[in-house]
Amino acid sequence: MSHWRERLRRNRHRADADAAELLPVRAATEHRLLLSRVSRGESRLLRFPVDLEAAFKAYSREQAAPARITTTLITALLFLGAPLWSASMLGVPESTRTLTLWISVLALAPAFAIVTALIYLWPRNVMVENVFIAAFLLEAVAIEVLRHDAVLAGYRVTPVISVAVPVAALALARLSLLRSLVFVALYVVILVAGDRLATAAPWARTPTETLTIAILLSVALVSSAFAQHTRRQNWALLQLMRAGALVDFLTGLANRSAYEAHVERWTRLGRREGKPYTMAVVDLDYFKRINDRYGHQHGDGVLREVALTLEQFARRPGDLAARVGGEEFVLFLYGCDRDAAARRLERLRATIEALGLENVDSPHAVVTASIGAVTITRPEPVSASYEKADQALYQAKRAGRNRVVIHDPAQTPPN
Ligand code: GH3
Ligand code: MG
Ligand code: MG
Repeated sequence: MSHWRERLRRNRHRADADAAELLPVRAATEHRLLLSRVSRGESRLLRFPVDLEAAFKAYSREQAAPARITTTLITALLFLGAPLWSASMLGVPESTRTLTLWISVLALAPAFAIVTALIYLWPRNVMVENVFIAAFLLEAVAIEVLRHDAVLAGYRVTPVISVAVPVAALALARLSLLRSLVFVALYVVILVAGDRLATAAPWARTPTETLTIAILLSVALVSSAFAQHTRRQNWALLQLMRAGALVDFLTGLANRSAYEAHVERWTRLGRREGKPYTMAVVDLDYFKRINDRYGHQHGDGVLREVALTLEQFARRPGDLAARVGGEEFVLFLYGCDRDAAARRLERLRATIEALGLENVDSPHAVVTASIGAVTITRPEPVSASYEKADQALYQAKRAGRNRVVIHDPAQTPPN
């Protein structure tokens, strides 16, 4: 049991991590507009773009898990208890009672118990969702079989009862529109097949019963579609709020909180995998003079340009560029040792200089950056690494700016 719980906890944790990793930076750029239109109800999308859609689906399944578990668990218990209620409630005659009990207690109850466990263990899994749908279709088949069996025994189970199955599933499971449609279509196929088997009047469905089923199914489908739309709208809003909390709006880069969360996660991984990583602080030179001469708005434009360059240097998995202060950026390079860091950061410095953004009050006449970095090969607190990168930056500034200084481990006294 504790193993299951651990598994669930890990699944949950992964859900958070994925959402945080996938969405903020992208949402800040190409998806932000779309999300804001959806959240305001201006766009009635049936699908988000691929990566957003995947995240939305995973989130929806996770959110629906408690309702799904409740539905399948109650269904399992109901079938397990069939011996107690089938005779008194449905008036099942002696002849069919054995079949009813076999199907209920030995087939349906265990099937739903298994589905409950699967959802509990893998709430975000697509296959589990398919198994969930299949279980309810199996139940529909079982009810048709029992109805047919009852017909042969000369007794009638009101066929409208079975429509409770898809209605409950649609109302509680929060399936996507497509899955709801497929589910209802398959359910109708089962009913039609059942009717074919039980042709002998008066056991077949009456027009009133058929109409009742059609109305109930339509209502369930429409309500499921509206509910899905509301969920999309709420999710879009949630993503925007998260993006706002994690993205720097001026440049679209990660902000300080996002950077800290990222570093925290990836340094932990680095420790486990025994991989080095490099933290670099990038500070623009004489930036105040840009604001003073060209105006604050121009300064903002320069920050955006530099941010675009910085982002191009954080391409590998685990890398991240962030804006952590006014004209101060950080770059986290995962799996990057000291030599590789020296090469990449020198290239970054040269690229920023080569942008050729005017700054006549600087000795270089263009915007340049000073970079201080530290490569971590042995575990240490993140704050200590940051401190070392900052010291290296200070040295770069003192040595004349527009240069890269990487912290020298030989300088640190052993502690
Ligand atoms: P140094 O070479 O020593 O780094 O000098 P500096 O002028 O770049 O550094 P200083 O810390 O003296 O000034 C930083 C300036 O950055 C001050 C502030 O006006 C400007 N700044 C901070 N945030 C923003 C912003 O969001 N937009 C703009 N345009 N300027 C900003
Ligand atoms: Mg500066
Ligand atoms: Mg600064």
